[in-house]
Amino acid sequence: MLTIEGLTIGYRTKGKQTVVASGIDLSLQEGELVCLLGPNGAGKSTLMRTVAGMQEPLEGRVLVDGDDVHDLGARERAKILAVVLTERVEAGLLTSRALVGLGRYPHTSWSGKLSAKDHEVVRDAIVRVGAEDLAHRYVGDLSDGERQKVMMARALAQEPRMMILDEITAFLDLPRRVEIMRLLRRLARETGRAILISTHDLDLALRAADRVWLLPKGGTLQAGAPEDLVLSGAFESAFASEGVDFDATRGAFQVHRHFVGEVELVGDGLPAQWTARTLEREGVHVWSGAGPVPSTRVIAEGGDPVGWRITGDGQETRLSSLYDLALELRRRFAATDL
Ligand code: ADP
Ligand code: MG
Repeated sequence: MLTIEGLTIGYRTKGKQTVVASGIDLSLQEGELVCLLGPNGAGKSTLMRTVAGMQEPLEGRVLVDGDDVHDLGARERAKILAVVLTERVEAGLLTSRALVGLGRYPHTSWSGKLSAKDHEVVRDAIVRVGAEDLAHRYVGDLSDGERQKVMMARALAQEPRMMILDEITAFLDLPRRVEIMRLLRRLARETGRAILISTHDLDLALRAADRVWLLPKGGTLQAGAPEDLVLSGAFESAFASEGVDFDATRGAFQVHRHFVGEVELVGDGLPAQWTARTLEREGVHVWSGAGPVPSTRVIAEGGDPVGWRITGDGQETRLSSLYDLALELRRRFAATDL
């Protein structure tokens, strides 16, 4: 439904042209959840504003069913696409319900009066995002996360065919972010909408997106299933400059750590899994089973409470938390380094 042809995005100021990204050719299908990912300043917001018709492209076109979005009138455009940006809204004196009601404007008559059907759509949208308890409250009194939900409800009430959401999960805590991604995915599937969302949440995007648009800084946008982009190494290289390593095996980013030593990890289940995370954070490799057995062994003992033992060099230390385990590892490996 949405086609991007030979698009160059960027800014024109005082006759000077700054290109943010170019050579973008893409399409967005109905029922698809697409996550736009890229480092800060790569041009995600610029691309979204351009796709939404809020900013002129430097070159190329954005077509919705063959019509250029930049040629559509505001009302016409609002029927097709809803945009949610993180920018603060000047709507503090409205109740959440009234703000969501504004989403109906492309569908109401010129008087702007909401019909019974409009009220029903508004109610529905509020329920969908789980904002029933916010409906009567003033938008100005809401937390960032709450306001974000109301803005999403407003976009839903607009009943667009396509939704563009820029960094809307940034202010939300993890459970809410997971919930919002689920909601968006379900919406895409159940209502056949195309949803484009930019997010910092790489892990969540990798798990939830049907497709990822990956925009590296100064590079070329690449699109594919999240797994395609991991396999091709595109992911790793897009974020290579950010001081984090992408671990393609786990599909997660990790802060780069100096290797300080190697241990054998014994244990299973969640305790062993989170012990491995502590080791990784400390720059301690877990022995893979190949090569010589390391002299230090970390044992995660199941049970309640969970306990740990570190053995090696004739010393055994018992620990009751991963915090203490990390301290002990630092002590042991600092000693062997000298
Ligand atoms: P992202 O959303 O990926 O963090 P942006 O799209 O906000 O990136 O910014 C991309 C680039 O465009 C940045 O270098 C930024 O400084 C520049 N930029 C953003 N807004 C403007 C503007 N209004 N005028 C000129 N340059 C801008
Ligand atoms: Mg941005």
